[in-house]
Amino acid sequence: MSILVTGGTGYIGSHTCVELLDAGYDVIVVDNLSNSKIKAIDHIEGITGKILKFYKLDILNREGMYNVFEENDIEAVIHFAGLKAVGESVEEPLRYYQNNITGTLVLCEAMQRYGVKNMVFSSSATVYGMDNESPLTEDLPLSATNPYGWTKIMIEQILRDTYASDGTWSIALLRYFNPIGAHESGRIGEDPNGIPNNLMPYITQVAAGKRKMLNIFGNDYDTPDGTGIRDYIHVVDLAKGHLKALQKVIESNGIDAYNLGTGIGYSVLDVVKAFEKATGKEIPYVMADRRAGDIASCYADPSKAYRELGWKAEKDIYDMCKDAWRWQVNNPNGYE
Ligand code: NAD
Ligand code: UDP
Repeated sequence: MSILVTGGTGYIGSHTCVELLDAGYDVIVVDNLSNSKIKAIDHIEGITGKILKFYKLDILNREGMYNVFEENDIEAVIHFAGLKAVGESVEEPLRYYQNNITGTLVLCEAMQRYGVKNMVFSSSATVYGMDNESPLTEDLPLSATNPYGWTKIMIEQILRDTYASDGTWSIALLRYFNPIGAHESGRIGEDPNGIPNNLMPYITQVAAGKRKMLNIFGNDYDTPDGTGIRDYIHVVDLAKGHLKALQKVIESNGIDAYNLGTGIGYSVLDVVKAFEKATGKEIPYVMADRRAGDIASCYADPSKAYRELGWKAEKDIYDMCKDAWRWQVNNPNGYE
């Protein structure tokens, strides 16, 4: 029996493939390489000493997806494939709804047709919207401020309705907080196209001299140092959370949401200081205007994942910084 990983050459997917292979699972990856490189597969295989099966395929390709289920004995699906840039989703909402929602519908139809009803889905803390107070618990009302966030809320609803219609499905909705860092081998990591939108890849590129300085988006938030607070989680801890969720969906039926975060909030300035301490590199910065759509503070109550999945994050902010930096130094141009 194999685990199908959609989006498995991407940032979180590649780290999860390493954990799956290390744990002895057979792994099949489907990815259209729209935001990742085929080289990730070599690196995953190099780290683990194991091989996986790769299909370069768009999950919207129904016949192609049926073929994957036809050719393999699949026990469960970990569904990462999706577009994830918030700003781009505002510019191109139809592409986001088409890719993320229709893609998930095609995947679910293929799963139903082949009697595969175990799924772990990549949701996001963005589903908590602007109005809830941290620490965030899974039972809070959901809302979104951009099409990307709405795709996550809509997909969660589609999966809830699917389970409601057929109680033999088993689904974990994993709401990630802010994944950063890289595998400690320095061989897989986050490989953004162009100018990074997210904080940590921007910091590592400043440290590497590729960008002059960090712009800190807002220093007048209602937080101790005025900069935004987030719950950063090491991507390897996050990947391990998927294995715990996978065990749960294989062993039982139902649908549940779980926060995957550390429960600790760090400000932008905290992250800059931690990075400088962990790596010895100085990060020049300037204060800039707030970024539209950002909130002051967002961190998890991760206790449900601990109670029900037996998972908690182990790595600290220094591990996250050191590992992100090792990836940047070893791969100055990402996978290229
Ligand atoms: P990523 O872009 O690195 O990985 C996503 C992968 O999916 C890419 O390899 C891309 O080529 C592939 N893909 C996209 N559309 C596809 C399609 N139609 N068919 C086949 N493959 C397709 O992103 P990531 O950071 O690894 O995120 C993985 C998932 O986790 C996404 O669903 C994302 O929305 C979610 N998520 C990410 C974060 C984050 O900060 N990275 C936070 C919360 C949730
Ligand atoms: N941020 C920043 N400068 C950047 C990128 C991000 O100050 O170049 C801040 C951003 O305003 C937020 C935090 O860093 O407070 C995390 O942003 P990121 O985009 O990494 O994740 P988000 O929480 O927005 O998904």
